[in-house]
Amino acid sequence: MKLKILLIIICILLTACSAGSDAEYSYDFFAMDTFMSINAFGGSAEEGVKAAARRINELEGLLSVTDENSDIYAVNHLGASSVSSETAKLVSFALEIADKTNGALDPTIYPVLNAWGFTADNKRVPSDGEIAKLLENVGFGRVTVNGNSVTLGEGMMLDTGAVAKGYAGDETVRILREHGVSSALVNLGGNVQLIGTKPDGGDWRLGLKDPTGAGNIGVLTVSDCAVVTSGNYERCFTAEDGTVYGHIIDPANGCPVDNGLLSATVVAAEGKLCDALSTALFVMGEKGATDFWRENKNFDVILITDNAEVLITKGIADKFTLDEVHKNFIVKVVE
Ligand code: AMP
Ligand code: MG
Repeated sequence: MKLKILLIIICILLTACSAGSDAEYSYDFFAMDTFMSINAFGGSAEEGVKAAARRINELEGLLSVTDENSDIYAVNHLGASSVSSETAKLVSFALEIADKTNGALDPTIYPVLNAWGFTADNKRVPSDGEIAKLLENVGFGRVTVNGNSVTLGEGMMLDTGAVAKGYAGDETVRILREHGVSSALVNLGGNVQLIGTKPDGGDWRLGLKDPTGAGNIGVLTVSDCAVVTSGNYERCFTAEDGTVYGHIIDPANGCPVDNGLLSATVVAAEGKLCDALSTALFVMGEKGATDFWRENKNFDVILITDNAEVLITKGIADKFTLDEVHKNFIVKVVE
């Protein structure tokens, strides 16, 4: 009898172990205004993925500009509010990068974004006068974070949209690892974060989107990092005169970025850094972005330009392969 029980226990343990090491769980969902998917392998993959999805929803609840119960909504509608410590930290981080990028990233651009109709679905081209007036209410230097309290200057509004998904990606990776996940592909609406290699030990192959059409321009072969792309080709509209306007605004002139860059992809360990920098480098343009990389070098970047060039920093140059059908693009390594 005892032997039987022992055998049953051993069997259960063996099954539990094999379920653990071979565990795989995939989940697709909609959050932060975008489609997200998580594929995780190893450990308690299912529990980890579900916990991460709950966490992303929780973060959306704190950071949403439109949810009346969010921290950001409170700050924007009261001018000053006490917020959760993680909202305060994320706002501080956005302000720090705003400062480092000379305001190319500016989390107070929201009133201008709103005038262009990107926040609700009523896209329009505001007049120069309207933009100039709204720019008076933009300036990251007039936001104060003191402990957990955030205060805005008169008429200002905060939007963490350029960094929130990156932070959510970091949290997802942290939670999956805590659940023993050894390999994962996390795609939060174009913000990709990778844990380890593919389960078979090979690098992940990520398609780099062609900003000029459907499909990919090439493949990036990487592991254990974050890969985040910003471009004006996704959330955009075509005005009556045929001009295409996108959702990333240059805080210097209050207009959607129009500087010759089609996309900026940043590769580094941390998602929130990649997210903040991909938006900022896209605003800076080719020269600003490559100069910034040379001064910092704590990340890699791929810039796609409207004259069919792919500029790639040397740290990842050998990890990128141009697609056969895009051989008209010229790949240049940035040193
Ligand atoms: P991303 O997709 O990370 O590049 O972020 C773009 C989002 O950030 C937009 O949808 C806006 O909500 C916001 N945004 C647009 N322009 C800027 C900017 N210059 N600085 C900070 N946030 C911006
Ligand atoms: Mg971003």
